Amino acid sequence: MTEGLIHSLESCGTVDGPGIRFVIFTQGCPLRCLYCHNPDCRHPEDGKKVTSEELITEIKKYRSYFQYSGGGVTVTGGEPLMQPEFVKAIFEECHKIGIHTVLDTSGYVTLDAAKPVLEHTDLVLLDIKSFNPDTYRTVTSVSLEPTLKFARYLAEINKPTWIRFVLVPGLTDAEDNVLGLAKFVSQLKNVEKVEVLPFHKMGEYKWEQLGFDYQLKNTEPPSQELMNKVINTFKNYNLVVQ
Ligand code: SF4
Repeated sequence: MTEGLIHSLESCGTVDGPGIRFVIFTQGCPLRCLYCHNPDCRHPEDGKKVTSEELITEIKKYRSYFQYSGGGVTVTGGEPLMQPEFVKAIFEECHKIGIHTVLDTSGYVTLDAAKPVLEHTDLVLLDIKSFNPDTYRTVTSVSLEPTLKFARYLAEINKPTWIRFVLVPGLTDAEDNVLGLAKFVSQLKNVEKVEVLPFHKMGEYKWEQLGFDYQLKNTEPPSQELMNKVINTFKNYNLVVQ
């Protein structure tokens, strides 16, 4: 039994991996993404304590949904790999009972922390928030290199991976940024698809409630034209895009 800190649970999620999923939002994140829709996930100490055993009891109730839809369990955050032992314990138990596991991460972690978790992970959703290191730092407040190192390691062990990229007009949409990312990802043979996610402001109210300064107030979601342009850039590198 391993204890961890979570923000919340979602019993029937459909956007974080295949099928219907039990989604665990862990508490704590070392990044400070300008568009974060869960800014209340930042600090581990604000989380709710649960044990992996309690979660597995809850997860088991949804097995028929997973079987019917090809779903399973997703751990996201926050940054799940801030609590590697906790996530490993959840995934290990899931595998014992035949439940598919997805890890959603920024990749801003050490490989030593991630490796034991990856042994019990079926699919990784890796968020690469920018390919230009300066833009990456502007978006996240941290450096890009650990994420690229993590991406290369996933390729080395041939771990099925979906890449996620949030398109923010005036921030991550520069042509050389998108081209660079597409080229990099196309070299990773483990990547099954790329998800281009349009920036939205659904989390803005949480920033206000927390008294944080939301710097993207005047940024609009990308137009369909810009979305298509970026999607086509990835497709031109023979990547499957959603
Ligand atoms: S990695 Fe996710 S949870 Fe962390 S700050 Fe960025 S968007 Fe928010």
